[in-house]
Amino acid sequence: MIQNAVSPLLPPATIGILGGGQLGKMTAEAARHMGYRVLVVSPSAKDPAACWCDEHIAADPSDPKVAAEIAKKCDVLTNEFEQVSVVALEAAEAAGCRVAPSSHVQRIVQDRRLEKTFLRDHGFPVGPFRIVESEEQMEQAYRELSAPKNPGDAPRKVVAKTARGGYDGKGQHWLKNGKEALSAWNELGKVPLVLEQGVEFIAETSVIVARSSESHATSFPMFRNEHRKGILFQTVIPAGFNDATEKEARRVAEGIAREISLIGVIAIEMFVLPDGHVLVNELAARPHNSGHVTLRACTRSQFELHVQSICGLPLPQVDLLRPGVMTNLLGDLWREGREPDWQILYASPSGTLHLYGKSPRPGRKMGHMIHTASTAEEALREATDVFDQLNR
Ligand code: AMP
Repeated sequence: MIQNAVSPLLPPATIGILGGGQLGKMTAEAARHMGYRVLVVSPSAKDPAACWCDEHIAADPSDPKVAAEIAKKCDVLTNEFEQVSVVALEAAEAAGCRVAPSSHVQRIVQDRRLEKTFLRDHGFPVGPFRIVESEEQMEQAYRELSAPKNPGDAPRKVVAKTARGGYDGKGQHWLKNGKEALSAWNELGKVPLVLEQGVEFIAETSVIVARSSESHATSFPMFRNEHRKGILFQTVIPAGFNDATEKEARRVAEGIAREISLIGVIAIEMFVLPDGHVLVNELAARPHNSGHVTLRACTRSQFELHVQSICGLPLPQVDLLRPGVMTNLLGDLWREGREPDWQILYASPSGTLHLYGKSPRPGRKMGHMIHTASTAEEALREATDVFDQLNR
């Protein structure tokens, strides 16, 4: 279960990536710059990562037989999508391949029941929650979590989330009363859920930790994240919280990476409370959308640190080079399939564009832009101005 210290893998070792999306693409780009060979397993040769690797295998990355075969060709195998098959990772591990993050880590982070229980049992700060696996439990859990703080107050807000498979706000239902709780149980498909009390936060943040062994771990400075319609819109670094909040968030994040025996990178999404303390929302054991800002704003990118950590290399402290803002570009910007006018972006002093090579659909993450400036406020102003012009 726990991956012990492993010998460093130096170029031209082969890194296998299960999944062919943009996170795989950017990991492959970093790895190839660093001299590694990259093999990508994904269904189509048109997938974003497929064009950036040394070898593409068109296959289902969730198939354990495929994973066991690939394992023989790789020195280390990693993944780039949330719901990577734990069984496939186990098959690769059984074939003797170094898998990072391991099947043990992925099993926990893929199921909100295991994730929340793990966090609570290890003393990490999480908001009140209940696991729901039947209609009766739904009623009871809603009653308990919605109970007002003081008699006479309005009921507390409660959110129901499917235990598995939800992302970007999908598989979630906010509940206003007991009736809605029952209809949500049906609408979400009568599948296991986690019910959470609504957290009254002042901001959302994420901390990305990289860990390559017992003795090598490092974290990026906190990111401040703004979501629109449940999808990440912008990430700002530095996040602008006080030192106590920054220290606490990074201590919690690094503690989680250690307790879960992570090798690789993990993103810890958190809520910042009005009193400056943090509550953990969820974990993703892979590079994370909020971490794209590190490509231009930090001394190392999250993709470089991911490669360093899965290859068992030392991890330096990462510093901010310049305040930065990452803005997601969703398919909605491609009105009637037309390419947005990128000249607007290229005319901005610090704007850089990264497109993933996907065909546009509303809500689909097509690419991102990064702006840097001497202050976060300035970068935010420039980014928002460019975005508004692209969005006209
Ligand atoms: P998630 O898929 O868990 O990351 O949730 C998507 C978004 O929903 C988060 O980024 C928050 O904006 C919001 N959210 C999720 N859980 C809660 C909660 N317990 N209290 C308040 N807002 C939440």
